[in-house]
Amino acid sequence: MVDVSGLRVLDVHAHPYLNKGAVSAEQFTDLTAFGGGSRAYMEEGGVAWTPGVSDELQRIKRGTLYFTRMVNDLATFLGTAPDIDSVLNERNAQVAVSYPDYVTRLFGDAGLDTVIFDFGVPLPMLDIDEVNADLPIEIVPIYRIEPLIADLLKQDLSWSEFKEKYDTSISEALSSGRYKGVKSIIAYRTGLEVSPLSRTADQGFQALDAIRRGLGGGSMKKLRDHLLCRAIELCMEYDVPMQIHTGMGDFEVNLVMCRPSYLMDLLRFPVYRSCRVLLVHTGYPYHREAAYMANVLPRVYLDVSEGIPFASSAAWEIYEGVMAMAPLNKICYGSDGYQLPEIMYTSAKLGKQALQDTLNGLVSKGMLTETAAQQAAVGILSDNARELYKLD
Ligand SMILES: [Zn+2]
Repeated sequence: MVDVSGLRVLDVHAHPYLNKGAVSAEQFTDLTAFGGGSRAYMEEGGVAWTPGVSDELQRIKRGTLYFTRMVNDLATFLGTAPDIDSVLNERNAQVAVSYPDYVTRLFGDAGLDTVIFDFGVPLPMLDIDEVNADLPIEIVPIYRIEPLIADLLKQDLSWSEFKEKYDTSISEALSSGRYKGVKSIIAYRTGLEVSPLSRTADQGFQALDAIRRGLGGGSMKKLRDHLLCRAIELCMEYDVPMQIHTGMGDFEVNLVMCRPSYLMDLLRFPVYRSCRVLLVHTGYPYHREAAYMANVLPRVYLDVSEGIPFASSAAWEIYEGVMAMAPLNKICYGSDGYQLPEIMYTSAKLGKQALQDTLNGLVSKGMLTETAAQQAAVGILSDNARELYKLD
């Protein structure tokens, strides 16, 4: 039987955070909830913020299987009753003594020893050393292009200045050796249908000029498409992976244009075939499309983050759907955790359990030997990502 309990875990996609100290049940619920349903969201929609509306949102957020699973995992870990108040009483008491010690025990229980953090959320960017002082595990930073693009658009730059600053900022981040890859969330902005022909410098020039003159005509999409192509070229130059958000995200994502299949034309284009590309979130709920792409495109990889843990019991279905076509050595475990360490914790527990069950199921069906399944678990939980990001 496959046994993942003692295996180390590398979380290939999450967002950094600092110690928030003691948190109330309401704060914990808001901070750990998947992206939607805030006071601002309701007020912008003309709904007055009353205690009744606040309760309504709390009940909705605590009504997900993801949330109940997290409370159950924490209750087991902390030795309390499985309710939010008991869990937080003990959690806050331990955090008050020492947050780094609490996180060390928490992550130790899940075997979590490395995290690849996308420093593009939250903004302004957190200091890498400060984050690391709170979280005593290996932290590998990733550089996100969208905050850079927003910053450059605010400046009054000619195209040659824009291009120069864009290239220099990414090059400096990568050549410093601190950042081990580049990330794009173009799926949130103008969608994944990016033509590889957007790479011509003329497209960048023409698009920025059209934006400056307020001409519209899809100029922002043309600029973003061009800059994504350029980021992939820089990843090739520095030999680091490119992460591209695919699939669901918070409520602002374009849930149609985030399908991984929209990236086919770009990723199979001859110039980009050498780049190693990680399809973040394996495009969930379009994870089977992403798995097909990892099968036919030699340098496309997948991470199961976000679906695990936020789609809760779909964790089993995600592994099963992805493993049907993606080579097992191209699948990486991830959580998309943020704000509080408990998301990364419950995700690692759930991710390990579902992986073990799925691999044991494949062994019993004769798809894998027990030895091969155990090796696949080691790869998915850690080694595949270590190889992809060239970590020791
Ligand atoms: Zn993320």
